[in-house]
Amino acid sequence: MVIVGAGIAGSALAARLSGAGLSIALVEAQPLAPPRLPAARDLASFDPRVSALTPRSRALLEEVGAWQAIADYRLCTYSHMTVWDADGTGVIEFDRQEVGADCLGHIVENRAIVAALLAVVEAGADITLFGETAVQACARDNNGRLHLTLAGGRELQPALVVAADGAQSPLRDMLQFPTREWDYGHRAVVATVQLERAHQDTAWQRFMPSGPLALLPLPGADDEHYCSIVWSLSEALVDEIMALDDAAFCARLGLASEHCLGEVVGTSQRFAFPLRQRHAVDYVQPGVALVADAAHTIHPLAGQGINLGLADVAVLAAEVTAGTARGAGPGDFALLRRYQRQRKGENLLMMAAMDGFKRLFEQDALPLRWLRNTGLKGVNRLPPVKQQLMRHAMGLG
Ligand SMILES: Cc1cc2nc3c(=O)[nH]c(=O)nc-3n(C[C@H](O)[C@H](O)[C@H](O)COP(=O)(O)OP(=O)(O)OC[C@H]3O[C@@H](n4cnc5c(N)ncnc54)[C@H](O)[C@@H]3O)c2cc1C
Repeated sequence: MVIVGAGIAGSALAARLSGAGLSIALVEAQPLAPPRLPAARDLASFDPRVSALTPRSRALLEEVGAWQAIADYRLCTYSHMTVWDADGTGVIEFDRQEVGADCLGHIVENRAIVAALLAVVEAGADITLFGETAVQACARDNNGRLHLTLAGGRELQPALVVAADGAQSPLRDMLQFPTREWDYGHRAVVATVQLERAHQDTAWQRFMPSGPLALLPLPGADDEHYCSIVWSLSEALVDEIMALDDAAFCARLGLASEHCLGEVVGTSQRFAFPLRQRHAVDYVQPGVALVADAAHTIHPLAGQGINLGLADVAVLAAEVTAGTARGAGPGDFALLRRYQRQRKGENLLMMAAMDGFKRLFEQDALPLRWLRNTGLKGVNRLPPVKQQLMRHAMGLG
């Protein structure tokens, strides 16, 4: 089989399937050198891209043998989450104790996840790595067999091709998978910031009509307190915010966060990512499967993107392993359809929920503001509803 894309999803799939009796090629357009992992904990050294990994994602990374390296490097375990509405008094608090869990999740720098997974796949005797090798073409012959052309001219004819090549997925386009997509007219500003006060192992999220702002806790250094921010803003506002000098940006972010962690004392370089929701109508064709961002991209407001992607990986790997043990080829269409059936519902549900949240909090009309605040306060006082929400967000049910 061929896995296209060695991001978090593609590398995790190769690692999970290693040892299952398949011959696996992992093809990546970028160089496959493991990312550098700086020891320093300061504004310049944290990766500006982080993921809030759920306990379910941690379990998969443990299973493939990548978690220990991530934990040995660094991460921030969070036990509490505070979500509030900018336009009123609505607030909802989530705490690990309410669901009897040891934590709600872990904030991990993306490059630490990739480095740990690459170390695992490099050790897999049944995995051949093709770094700096983009897939240039993928087509079927008259017998329905897949032909993959790699940069440099090499041809592969796998029984199964998995597209883990990200939101823009060239492979999805080459094989003409239809998608439904819409632009939010928003971009996410991402940076590491230093704060006056400790984050208390809490993920903070404030909803504003202009978009949500998340402050995700990072491992501290002595008396210095850091968070990674994801600030979703309309196009017009993003340009304005990106053009501010650092001091003005910190002041603006302090206001936007209602100084929940005191003053913002410093910022790293800022990056802006366009936000687009996209869902492939089908995830599979005979001999082909889409996983993670290639199948679905979701608003980052609840930090669910790669968690859904890793859940795809776990289900696809389980189906391929069980199918090949029964004697079916890894590209067997019935096997792939079982993967699609198990994953599409959860992915669609989460995408719809994120979309609904975003739209509800954008509304300025008084009845909707009242509904939001009453709803947040109401849910906060209803332990069974809260527990259900938390378990779902943690990938536990
Ligand atoms: C601002 C922001 C914040 C986010 N925060 C969170 C969060 O807190 N929690 C969370 O779960 N998710 C989060 N996400 C989403 C998460 O980052 C993505 O879901 C995740 O990175 C997708 O991983 P992937 O492996 O599917 O794709 P990618 O990471 O995009 O990897 C795809 C790989 O395929 C390679 N590739 C592409 N084309 C080819 C080709 N033709 N040939 C060979 N290789 C190719 C690329 O080089 C790349 O390495 C966030 C997203 C954004 C934008």
